[in-house]
Amino acid sequence: MSTQFTLVSAAVGIHPNEDLDLDKSTLQKLRTLSNHPNVVAIGEIGLDYFRNITPPDKQKHRFRVQLDLASELGLPVIVHCRDAYEDAINIISEWQSSMGSKSNPGVFHSFSGLETHMNTIVDKGFYIGVTGSITFNKSYNLRDIVSGLPLTKILIETDAPFLSPQPNRGKRNEPAFVRWVADKIAEIKSVTVDEVANSSTHNALTLFDWNNQYVQT
Ligand SMILES: [Zn+2]
Repeated sequence: MSTQFTLVSAAVGIHPNEDLDLDKSTLQKLRTLSNHPNVVAIGEIGLDYFRNITPPDKQKHRFRVQLDLASELGLPVIVHCRDAYEDAINIISEWQSSMGSKSNPGVFHSFSGLETHMNTIVDKGFYIGVTGSITFNKSYNLRDIVSGLPLTKILIETDAPFLSPQPNRGKRNEPAFVRWVADKIAEIKSVTVDEVANSSTHNALTLFDWNNQYVQT
């Protein structure tokens, strides 16, 4: 991995939609990659029953193995979850009861579950990732849920190149567009955009254990 872009951090992991066996050599490759100082998390890992490219049992196994890898390496996890919240929460619960819960276990990125899922996930110490989908006209349920979520638990994200916010919906997403995600959260929570940006930055720094050199004052 190149060190040319020192301000860019990475996560390594096998995505649930990747049609790939997680054998010992793949696991060892993940271990080696994660030794790089710019690797700050294991992810995206999780379950995707919407696309269902990989059989659920195989997805669950890979999720469990990579959660254990994150514990072994002392890294947080970035969880991808679509139409699989119950199973994902059960696996996280088993993981936390066997490994012990830590204060910043990870983030459920691009959250798309129900309020009850969100409450359970937050209780387990996870952050909730909010993408451009919060700006979509039909996302009133998500807006409703996020309006009750404290800023201390929210991470704003792009999920680029996907989920471009409303003004650019359907086009290629890029990091600068995260501004519209912050705008929408500020609007529904009746706070300023600066408050959303500052708290999301603080949450990311805490979760990924970034030191302050990444923040320009
Ligand atoms: Zn994802």
